[in-house]
Formats: sequence, structure tokens, C-alpha cells
Amino acid sequence: MRTKLIAGNWKMHKTVSEAVALIDALYAALPTIASDREVVVCPTFTALSAVAARPRGAIGIGAQNVYPESHGAYTGEISPAMLVDIGCRYVIIGHSERRALFSESDAFIAKKAAAVLAAGMTPIVCVGETKQERESGRAEAVVLGQVAGSLAGLQDRLADVVIAYEPVWAIGTGLTATAADAQTMHAAIRAELRRIGGAAAERVRIQYGGSVKADNVDELMAQPDIDGALVGGAALVAEGFARIANYR
Ligand code: PEP
Repeated sequence: MRTKLIAGNWKMHKTVSEAVALIDALYAALPTIASDREVVVCPTFTALSAVAARPRGAIGIGAQNVYPESHGAYTGEISPAMLVDIGCRYVIIGHSERRALFSESDAFIAKKAAAVLAAGMTPIVCVGETKQERESGRAEAVVLGQVAGSLAGLQDRLADVVIAYEPVWAIGTGLTATAADAQTMHAAIRAELRRIGGAAAERVRIQYGGSVKADNVDELMAQPDIDGALVGGAALVAEGFARIANYR
């Protein structure tokens, strides 16, 4: 039985005081969390310490990015140890926005995932096809290629990785994959994980992301290979995110 993971990606939103107000509102809206799930929020770097320092309920803290070196001349970057130091347990890696806007390759994402695991945190490795790739019938090949490339060399640590399947055309657009289409891709991802790491694939949590909202989360979470959600826009409103975290 895989513990579902509901994670909120706050992206480049919220000043420190706004982020603290949001986590406080979330603790109020979500006083308890069911034992079959984990809830995590991923604020911006500037707000991470302040959010992590709030009275802790059961909500975990994650970062949205990391640099895969321990220290050194990497202006503007943040190391895994710095994230551990402030209480981070998760790191989103290879989000489609970083792949597209910052040209992050599968190989670089695999380096980041290895560094996050070595620091004792859990990488949330994002994969997903564009609209054009789906329309040309290449969605599965693209996604499975990203899975294999982004996990290169990590076959022995597979069970400690989270995958987020986020079709790019569904992110921030209000469009969502149907629960059946999402399940089909999640099952294909799990088959690829079996090929890479054998039985450990059954323990890998595969989140769905892309316009997850209160009105579609229940059906998505009912699918056998959907093990949680990575939530963008809807994570910025405490009551809405609490409703998603309380999916049935
Ligand atoms: C995301 O950016 O990871 C995401 C899923 O965004 P949204 O929920 O807004 O589509």
C-alpha cells in the first residue's frame, strides 16, 4: 500500500509574510491529515525557512529546485544540504517549466535526483508530454524516455523517488487528463519503472499534476496507479488545497 502524497507547488508566488499567512491558514483548514496520505507544501526559496519554522502540524516542506553540488562557486544556486538544514524533506525536480524555460535535460535532472537522495531527501521528478507530442501520438514514448533519462543510475534507489506525471498541456490551463487517460499513462510509467528497477517499482509513488482541483481530485485519486497529486494554482488558496488534501 503506497502512502499518497499531495504536494502544493507555490511556484514564484508569495512574499515571506504572504507565505506565512498561507501556511497558517492551511494548518487551520487542515487540522488533521488522514493516515493514508502525506501533505507537503513547496514555497519559494525566500519563504522556505519562515514556512518551515511555523508550528508544525503534519505538513511537510519541500523546495522547488536544487543544485546538485554540495558547495562552491555556483552563484545563485542552493545546495541539498542547505535545504536539509532548514527542514526540507522533498525537492521538486525537472518541472516542465524548468525543462522549458531553463533548458534542464534529463541528465541534469538525474544528477539533481541523485544529490537529493544522497542528502536524505525525496526527489519529486516531473515528467510530461506537450500538447504537440500528445497529438502526434508520441506522449508515451516521450514520458517513458524522460522517466528512464531522469532516473539514470538510480535503479537501486527507485523506491525512494516520487514521480509526478504532469502533461504540459494540463498545467495551469484548466485542462485535465481524464482519470482513465491519466491511469493509462501511470500504468505505463510503472511498467517502465519495473523494467528499470524490478519489484521496487511497486513502491514508487506516481503523482498526477495538471489543473488538479476540488472537483476532479476524487476521481483521479481513485485510480490504482495514481498515488497523489502535484498541485499548482489550487495550492495557493488554503481552503481549496485543504479540500484536495481531503480527497475521498
Ligand atoms: C504544476 O505546476 O505543477 C501544476 C500542476 O500546476 P496547476 O495545478 O496550476 O496546473
